[in-house]
Order: sequence, then C-alpha cells, then structure tokens
Amino acid sequence: MPELPEVETTRRGVDPHVVGRRIVSLAMHEPRLRWRVPDSLPGEVAGQRVRKTGRRAKYLLLELDSGTLLLHLGMSGSLRVLPADTPRVTHDHFDLLLDSGLTLRFNDPRRFGSLHYTTGSPNEHPLLARLAPEPLDDAFDTDYLWRSTRMRRVAIKQLLMNSTLVVGVGNIYASEALFRARIRPTRPARSLKRTEVAKLARAVRTVLNMAIRVGGTTLRDYVGADGNPGYFRQKLYVYERVKKPCRVCKTPIKQLTQGQRSTYYCPTCQK
Ligand SMILES: [Zn+2]
Repeated sequence: MPELPEVETTRRGVDPHVVGRRIVSLAMHEPRLRWRVPDSLPGEVAGQRVRKTGRRAKYLLLELDSGTLLLHLGMSGSLRVLPADTPRVTHDHFDLLLDSGLTLRFNDPRRFGSLHYTTGSPNEHPLLARLAPEPLDDAFDTDYLWRSTRMRRVAIKQLLMNSTLVVGVGNIYASEALFRARIRPTRPARSLKRTEVAKLARAVRTVLNMAIRVGGTTLRDYVGADGNPGYFRQKLYVYERVKKPCRVCKTPIKQLTQGQRSTYYCPTCQK
C-alpha cells in the first residue's frame, strides 16, 4: 500500500511535469473509484492551470487556478506521467491531459483510490479538516508526543499508527522508528520516559525522510511516478526480517501481532 513516503515521492516526481501546465481535459474512464467522481468534474477543471502540488497525509493535492484536486492512491493506486497517446492498460481510470502533450494517468486495480475537487481551502475539506499533525511538520515534536502519550495505556506502536495522533505513519515506519528509538513496540504509551519520547519523535522523522529520499519502500506494488521502484526496503532494520540477525547486535528479530498487524522488533536492542 502506498504510504506517506510513496505519496511524497509521487508528488515530487509529477511536480515538474504538471506545475504551470494547463489542463486540456480530464478523461474519466472509470468514475467508480472509492467514491464516485461526479460527472461535472471534467467540465470544472478543463482549461485551468496547475499552480502547485502539495500533500496532506496521503492525499496528493493539485492546486488549480480556482480550486484544488485531492487525489488518494488508496491501496494500490499509482500515477504516471506519459505521452498522451500511450495506449491505456487495464485499471487506468483517468487521464489528466496537459497542454504539454503529456498526461497524468491514474491506475488502480483495487479502486480504493479517490478523486475530489474543492473550490474552498483544501484544509477545510471534510476529508482533511480533522487530520492530526503531519509527522514532518514542526507541530509533531517531543512536547506534542509527550502530551499525547501521558494518559494512554495502548501499546506505543498502535498509538503511532493511529491517525488521530499523527498521520501517515504506517506499519513499516512505526516498526522502524521504534527500533531506532530502542523502544519495545508493546510498551504502554504512557510508560515512555521523556528522553524516549524525544528519541521516538526524531526517529519517526528520520525514517520517513530517508524513505522519501530513496523513493518509498513498497517494492511489491508501488512504482514511482517515473517508473522506478522504491529502495528503502534494503535499509530496513526489523520490518519483515523475522529470525534474521539484528543488524546492530545479531540477535534474531522477533515477530508478534498487534491489532491484526505484524510487528517486528529486536528483543535485545528494544527495551
Ligand atoms: Zn539488536
């Protein structure tokens, strides 16, 4: 599933191809995405120029002259920039044709992705209005994580993945950040010391920034905007490394299940 780094990588990949370009047309081949795309949308965006790209949580934002497109990649979606006459393949659901002769093409086998348009502030759109802080923004700092964990008995890993605390920290990045902070994923959130909270806030940023730099992680079903797979997987310390030796201390990595998700940790490095 595309996680925050994949979406940010996609944004950076498409940005130079779309900013400043005028939308010739939006061709909807399949409007039945996670939510049905209204028939009026192509008429609303045609002729507008793309002013800039942005991202909020896992939503990719395309700011136009008089509104903003909100695109979510869902479980299996991907965007590619292609010459407009490139033949379509199965699960290509829309084309945003640009005046450069290129098209921004969305493919999504499982159709959990979505496309919305708003003429108001995107941050006030119902899908974005109540989202928690971005993990890479200043609001997600030691003080915030300290305050948010004091009353919580829930395991710290599950809290990190809870999008009411912070957005976009999926299973891979929660596991890796906890390893870097040397914190056992099963610890009750409120048991963390202030120094551990500080390390964890820093570790979350570090793993996400590293993943963004190398273009995301999920090799199996993610292809970057320019067609390159992500390489962060090769740098993972614990995720999907069960029984393999810890890269720091050689202890075999352990696996357990938390909230129906697999968790990986080093029983020696993480206390
Ligand atoms: Zn270890």
